[in-house]
Amino acid sequence: MSEKRLLFRLDDIAPGMVRTNLDRLKTIFDKYDIKPLLGVVPDNKDPGLVKDEKDEENFWKNIKKLEEEGWPIAMHGSEHVYCTEDSGLLRANPFSEFAGLSFEAQKEKLVKGRNALEKHDIKPVYFMAPGHTFDENTLKALHETGFTYVTDGYTAEPYRREDLLFIPCTLGEAQTPKGTDTVCIHLNNWKDEDFERLEDFLKDDPNVCGTWTGVVNNGASDYGKKTAKEEKRYIRIRDMKRRSAESEVMQRYMRKSYSDNKAIKLIKRVFYLPMLLGKK
Ligand SMILES: [Zn+2]
Repeated sequence: MSEKRLLFRLDDIAPGMVRTNLDRLKTIFDKYDIKPLLGVVPDNKDPGLVKDEKDEENFWKNIKKLEEEGWPIAMHGSEHVYCTEDSGLLRANPFSEFAGLSFEAQKEKLVKGRNALEKHDIKPVYFMAPGHTFDENTLKALHETGFTYVTDGYTAEPYRREDLLFIPCTLGEAQTPKGTDTVCIHLNNWKDEDFERLEDFLKDDPNVCGTWTGVVNNGASDYGKKTAKEEKRYIRIRDMKRRSAESEVMQRYMRKSYSDNKAIKLIKRVFYLPMLLGKK
């Protein structure tokens, strides 16, 4: 049996994020000596990530301070703007900042992102693709622009592909992993109960948490037939679960918005539409 190692990554770290949530999470992580991977957007142009006042100076000061405390930094895209509908190698989402673009265009984005971070004296070796979407060209461009690690992948253990080390990431919340796995945290959306759930987990099982340095120094097997099969299997099962979740929501929507009266039915169909977006 392989060793169980749970890692944490924080997506969407950009000026204007909910800073109080970052501070609150840090208090918890400090208690358990956990150092998560900070997914910093070098030049954020995505208004969806801005929830608070942008205090650029303090933001970058804080990122440098966290780096000095041992929190590793990943480059989370370049501008965090989705410009293609390509779902990339992992078919994670039907949108991407990178997948589907030419090698040259991708490399240019990566260089721009890297330069923006280097202005703040940050030299990233980890890459965190917005939407988990990247393709073969992204991998080649990453290698050529000085990246070593990718925080994505659906296998039980890290693997090496195109001279990059992939550290698996399949979790939306803390749980005991099968092997090595990463919890993806979107702090802007965190509520009290998310912090409480995380603390409850850490109280019960603090020893399952690994460190990024420990994991990347542990080596990995090459991405071969076996790894590809394991990853494809994960994608197949995930897609099946997604489809069935969608159809359950649809059935619930049809039941809830039904009426014998045509006019009322029409009104109810419109009224309950947010249900289909998971909002009701
Ligand atoms: Zn993101």
